[in-house]
Amino acid sequence: GLSGRLQSIMSKLRGKGKVTEADVKEAMREIRLALLEADVNFKVVKTFIDRVKERAIGQEVLKSLTPGQQVVKVVNEELTELMGGQESKLAVASKPPTIIMMVGLQGAGKTTSSAKLARLLSKQNKKPLLVAADIYRPAAIKQLEVLGEQLGVLVFSLGDKENPVKIAQAGIEKAKKEQFDTVLIDTAGRLHVDEQMMDELRGVRKVAEPDEILLVIDAMTGQDAVNVAESFHREMELTGVILTKLDGDTRGGAALSVKAVTNCPIKFVGMGEKADALEPFHPDRMASRILGMGDVLSLIEKAQEAVDVEKAKELEKKMRSQKLTLNDFLDQLQQVRKMGPLEDMLAMIPGANAKALKNVTVDEKKMDRIEAIIQSMTSHEKDHPEILNASRRRRIAMGSGTSVQDVNQLLKQFQEMKKSMKQMASMMKNTKKRKGFK
Ligand code: GDP
Ligand code: MG
Repeated sequence: GLSGRLQSIMSKLRGKGKVTEADVKEAMREIRLALLEADVNFKVVKTFIDRVKERAIGQEVLKSLTPGQQVVKVVNEELTELMGGQESKLAVASKPPTIIMMVGLQGAGKTTSSAKLARLLSKQNKKPLLVAADIYRPAAIKQLEVLGEQLGVLVFSLGDKENPVKIAQAGIEKAKKEQFDTVLIDTAGRLHVDEQMMDELRGVRKVAEPDEILLVIDAMTGQDAVNVAESFHREMELTGVILTKLDGDTRGGAALSVKAVTNCPIKFVGMGEKADALEPFHPDRMASRILGMGDVLSLIEKAQEAVDVEKAKELEKKMRSQKLTLNDFLDQLQQVRKMGPLEDMLAMIPGANAKALKNVTVDEKKMDRIEAIIQSMTSHEKDHPEILNASRRRRIAMGSGTSVQDVNQLLKQFQEMKKSMKQMASMMKNTKKRKGFK
């Protein structure tokens, strides 16, 4: 993929002691191809390459002590700029409620993203109201109601007999009366951009006077997503974009083109089907992720959200002193389980560490087995795994209904976990330094 190709181009440059103009040009040629193949809009690619070249071929870069790294830094900064530079936060109405209108084609992820956004807002102690204004898609209202119930967010609907304009109006009335501070209006999409849909959306916009009109687009559709964004922006004057399905097998082009083509910032990205899989979009982190520098900050944030802070501190201490026990190991696996699919987490860790951690990837069934094995140990054994000789291992296997191989494998994983934790600990220490570098 794009990330892999850029990573190898970048590591070639980074490793060079001397970098010539020809080296930079060659690297730019390769980057250009990689971006085009990743479905990045060709105009965007051209502007991007021109900007990087202009900065990277400058004397101060090539004559610097670490020219390769300087060029990588320029590429990173320009990628960040391309995606909007800074995080673009949601607007907040000076007089509540803040009205957010979700628009987009059918299947892009409007309903799912509305619910996810409501969840994020609830977590920030806001009081959102979801408004079900898609009266066409069969079961669309039900879908939102089910999601709302799971999240403990109220869903307002008038069934599918009223028109969307009325529903939006009544929803906002309710929010005002009952002190909801944010209204999220989930609207209907069509398979393609058409006049009827736009008319209806304009009708809703007129009564709702939204503070945000967020276009939801599917990253998997690549260039098409960008074209859709252009049309919607022309008709609706969007305030931002939610790019969904970035967890899938996308080539990444949409993330890199949307802002440049429409001048509309990406505000959130969808990273999965579950309700917690929506993240604020950070252009700098995305750029680092694409360049393979790892998205350490997002990882830490995610960990902080899921992990008990006290426990994490304790664990960090143990990591540093390397006094990790099997009890901690079990605890840690359970915490990781709370954070979501391990693959997502692995994607955020820079190369070497990801490889180390891959060996401790566990599926749910395996997790159950690991829990059983550890629970079959005495507390002395859990604290001192080195005493687990063959006969103890046999006893534990019997007790947990597993095999001696399973026990052996777990102990091996435990050792690897210890090793990669040491790496993580030093990585987290380095984050501070990295920030200073920028
Ligand atoms: P709508 O028609 O725009 O309201 O789209 P929905 O919200 O109903 O979503 C359509 C499908 O896309 C559903 O199956 C969602 O679970 C799925 N989906 C939405 N966002 C994401 C995402 O970020 N990642 C993945 N993998 N699937 C998503
Ligand atoms: Mg929907």
